[in-house]
Amino acid sequence: MCRRVAERGTHWIGDLGTTVAYLNDDQFFSGYTSLILKRHATELYHLTAAERGRMIEELSRVARALDVVFRPAKMNYELLGNRVPHIHWHVVPRLPDDPNPRWPVWTLPHEPLRLSVEAARERATAVHSALVGLAE
Ligand SMILES: [Zn+2]
Repeated sequence: MCRRVAERGTHWIGDLGTTVAYLNDDQFFSGYTSLILKRHATELYHLTAAERGRMIEELSRVARALDVVFRPAKMNYELLGNRVPHIHWHVVPRLPDDPNPRWPVWTLPHEPLRLSVEAARERATAVHSALVGLAE
C-alpha cells in the first residue's frame, strides 16, 4: 500500500475498507477530515460501480461519526484531487459558530490551527470511537 495511506500517525481515524480517514492537520474548522481512497485513482469514473458505491458508503459513515462528535449545522463534502493521485474527500463539519457559514472553507483566509499531539490524538480517537459505535 502507498505510504500516504499506510501511516497510522497522530491524525489517523480509521481504515474503512476502500478508504482511510485522517483528521486534517489544520483544525481551524473543528473536525475537518480527509477520507482517502487507498488505491491510486483520480476520478470517480475510474472506479468500478461497486468500488464507488463502497467509497460513498464509507464517506457517509465518516460523516455520521463526525456528526455524532461535532453536531454540525451542516456537513460539507469536497472532492478536488488536483495534487495527489488518490481520490480524497474533504469532509468538513460546519459548526453552529462557523465564521463563514455560507461559503466553502477555502474562501476564508486563516492561520492553520495545528493541535498538540495529545489534542489531535484525542480528537481522532473520538471520531474513531463514534465510527466504531455506528450501526451499519
Ligand atoms: Zn499513493
